[in-house]
Amino acid sequence: AAVGGGLGFGIGLAGLVLFGWRERGPVADMYRALRNGEFIPHYQPLIDLDTGRILGCEVLVRWRKPDGRLIPPGAFIGEAERSGFIFPLTLALMRQAAEELGPTYAGRPDLKCGFNLCAAHFRDERIVGDVVSIFSHSDVKLSQVLLEVTERDPLPDMDAARAIIARFQEMGVRVALDDVGTGHGGMSYLLKLRVDVMKIDKLFIDALGAERQSTAIVDSLIDLAAHLNMEVIAEGVETFEQVEALRRRGVRSAQGYVFAPPLPGSSYCQLVQAMEPA
Ligand code: C2E
Ligand code: CA
Ligand code: CA
Ligand code: CA
Repeated sequence: AAVGGGLGFGIGLAGLVLFGWRERGPVADMYRALRNGEFIPHYQPLIDLDTGRILGCEVLVRWRKPDGRLIPPGAFIGEAERSGFIFPLTLALMRQAAEELGPTYAGRPDLKCGFNLCAAHFRDERIVGDVVSIFSHSDVKLSQVLLEVTERDPLPDMDAARAIIARFQEMGVRVALDDVGTGHGGMSYLLKLRVDVMKIDKLFIDALGAERQSTAIVDSLIDLAAHLNMEVIAEGVETFEQVEALRRRGVRSAQGYVFAPPLPGSSYCQLVQAMEPA
């Protein structure tokens, strides 16, 4: 009985410590904020460089504190990934985006919507069922969804990642490799994962035209994308010179402050609605 009591006391103490940590820590704050509706999607338009039309958007999360401050993802995504909070957060963002974009996206297969996933999402096939169940009951269709996997963080299991990507592709979901040129994978991710879209990182777009080596890297990435039958999206485009340099290279899609920053849902939907359907 004495041993049992000691054990119970020990577990009780551990529970208390754990409970206290859960109630107060940054992770607990995030779960509370999620229940409170403080995580909101913003939408950065994706532009067709040939026509100037909006092709879709990328969803970028913001934490809107009760006092109205908008906290950028850099301040909490790391902790969200380490703690596993990124899983409920990502699904909540998808549901919100599906709801907010639904009326504008219904019957507009030309409009796409991109979501950021993290390396951990490409370890467990359950993400496929989750995504399918959200968008199969939505006016945003699976064929309008683009999932972005970043090259920046190493993928723990390449075979699992490839299998998950293949299942998404079978469901009509397209997959992009994000931040291309900055990551651990080098060329191997591009070759092995067989994604549909290559997003060239801002780092290389910044130096486009200015710096010969970066320009050469962009040229070879574009060339590689063509050979692998991948679409190219340029990110972080800030100047008209960069737009022109991309157009000359045959890049069709881009996002960046030169066109629009990430916008609240209502502003993004207004922009799209102001544009005649193709
Ligand atoms: P990312 O996926 O590479 O997203 C692009 C980032 O560049 C966004 O920053 C966007 O606001 C910013 N950006 C877009 N155009 C320009 C430009 O012309 N100039 C400059 N200087 N910046 C531009 P943001 O929203 O702060 O997001 C940072 C990163 O946080 C994202 O990088 C992504 O890796 C991550 N992130 C954002 N939302 C989510 C999310 O819902 N889930 C996950 N897993 N990660 C997210
Ligand atoms: Ca992204
Ligand atoms: Ca990116
Ligand atoms: Ca980037």
